[in-house]
Amino acid sequence: MKNLKKYAKAIILLTVIILLVCFSFYKISKSRSSQFFGGLTSHVNTEEKIIALTFDDAPTEYTNEILEILDDKNVKATFFVVGKNFEKYPLEGEAIIENGHEIGNHSYSHQRCIFKSQTFIESEIEKTNTLIHDHGYKGEITFRPPNGKKLFGLPYYLNKNNIKTIMWDVEPDTYVSGDADAIVKYTVENTKPGSIILLHPLNGTAGEADREALPKIIDELKAGGYSFVTVSQLLKYEN
Ligand SMILES: [Zn+2]
Repeated sequence: MKNLKKYAKAIILLTVIILLVCFSFYKISKSRSSQFFGGLTSHVNTEEKIIALTFDDAPTEYTNEILEILDDKNVKATFFVVGKNFEKYPLEGEAIIENGHEIGNHSYSHQRCIFKSQTFIESEIEKTNTLIHDHGYKGEITFRPPNGKKLFGLPYYLNKNNIKTIMWDVEPDTYVSGDADAIVKYTVENTKPGSIILLHPLNGTAGEADREALPKIIDELKAGGYSFVTVSQLLKYEN
């Protein structure tokens, strides 16, 4: 009986430990400020009113619409491309490059890169980098994890290959999704010097409100004294 109690206690303790470990892994996999290997950037420490606009899941059929808005507002942004999308919309991908915007890598197939082999991670990153280069892009290519998820293998690979991980510190879609005015308000209120803003105007129905919000976000932040730069330009302002 005594032994049985002992075992029960040990099992409970072990379960609690396993749950705690799983919970901390979950938190770290989503963290915007730290990871197990190498650094990660969600914003830049600066007093200057300089910020970066970033769009995920490029290119899509909405690319030209977004390029026109950026051209009209004279803003350069950073597009995180999914390799599969680039293969489907090569002309749109090239248009991003030709318009002088920055390109980042957002994986090949947009699968979560946690609990995946190094071979899988390598092919997700390198296939997309090759596509980006083959379409004429010359700049440094940073990486943004699909769904913002990373744990061991992805940060390990990125760190080993000197590829920077770029997250964000302003993302209205999680909080006020679907309402353009609320997206503008949230973004303007939460942006600070050095912010990296994440929007999804290239996504289908889910991106509709972001497409509507984008010109207003640019206008309001410019009126507030902010200038827009690409992610790699922003990184140079780190104090
Ligand atoms: Zn994405």
